[in-house]
Amino acid sequence: MVTVMETLAIRTENKFRTLITKQAYKKGEVMCSIPSENIMDKPNRFTVQIGKDRHTHVGKLAALNHSCDPNVILDTERMLMVACRDIQKSEDLSFFYPSTEWEMNAPFICLCGASNCIHVVAGARFLPLSTLENHYLNKHIREMMIELLNGTTSHLKKLQEV
Ligand SMILES: [Zn+2]
Repeated sequence: MVTVMETLAIRTENKFRTLITKQAYKKGEVMCSIPSENIMDKPNRFTVQIGKDRHTHVGKLAALNHSCDPNVILDTERMLMVACRDIQKSEDLSFFYPSTEWEMNAPFICLCGASNCIHVVAGARFLPLSTLENHYLNKHIREMMIELLNGTTSHLKKLQEV
């Protein structure tokens, strides 16, 4: 188990932090574990969501940027960061924020340039299912989406009853 992140580095350019890798990885390879010593019930810019009301302070991994065409995934069930394609040494690392975040406290506009760019990154609850289904999603996100849709169904039933 890789717990120490000496293979990762933070590059700062114009106050913009980027997480980069000091070594190459193959698709599917585990890169490090996600820190879980410091869990809180509200998100902030240093946390990753790991459950309905659970957000873990991720330390160095907070420098991971969002991309709509990412090269890593954060698997919050196994608590591991995994390469989702082959990654070269010194490459910028990124993941798809809505794969862990349901409702972000600081939404932003994505300028990643990917053909499938979602543009507004605010959390999974603000994305259509047709977009989400093309991405790796963690279990808590899938469960919260099901809960939201079930709520919608019961509201629709009430409307029909009137
Ligand atoms: Zn994008």
